[in-house]
Amino acid sequence: ITFADLKLDKKVLRAVEETGYTIPTPIQAGAIPEALGGRDVLGIAQTGTGKTASFTLPMIHMLARGRARARMPRSLVLCPTRELAAQVAENFDTYAKHVKLTKALLIGGVSFKEQDQLIDRGVDVLIATPGRLLDHFERGKLLLTGVQIMVVDEADRMLDMGFIPDIERIFGLTPFTRQTLFFSATMAPEIERITNTFLSNPAKIEV
Ligand code: AMP
Repeated sequence: ITFADLKLDKKVLRAVEETGYTIPTPIQAGAIPEALGGRDVLGIAQTGTGKTASFTLPMIHMLARGRARARMPRSLVLCPTRELAAQVAENFDTYAKHVKLTKALLIGGVSFKEQDQLIDRGVDVLIATPGRLLDHFERGKLLLTGVQIMVVDEADRMLDMGFIPDIERIFGLTPFTRQTLFFSATMAPEIERITNTFLSNPAKIEV
């Protein structure tokens, strides 16, 4: 199959084609149709498999219509490190270049002020590390009750870094009706427990 077979929004497809990619990787071919169909996804994939596009493309497709309200992001991507969060943000820039989407990157080492201003204007995609996200939440600057799609990227690294309690807390701040796309390279018992608790009948894609 090709990207053109995935029924992505024309503007998203055009951005993908402009990067030069024509054939989806196995995680993309498995996860994108399930995500577009509205299902939760459990992706078991290492970095380098194309997993980032497997969640950014359906997110952009689904967020292309509609508009964010102040302080209520419409989607959330949680990453274990600043570097990974910045990389995910770059992917959004690449694939959303023909779509009007607002995004904010909430990572440590950057002043709150700038991040506050972005959140106030309303964001379609919030990309964050768990600690920084909760800092903003505790400062009363942010509500997660408008999150329609939530992604957890590299959950196994989140576990290694001690972020699982933060992740559980963040899940609890989002609506039950959200769609969840969850990625991990391995399925440790603690990761399995989280997916059993917070994912609803997920499509499991293992590559
Ligand atoms: P990731 O696993 O998301 O970190 O992606 C690994 C690398 O593969 C990145 O450099 C992507 O730009 C590239 N990539 C992602 N999807 C494709 C594709 N369908 N065809 C060729 N390269 C891709």
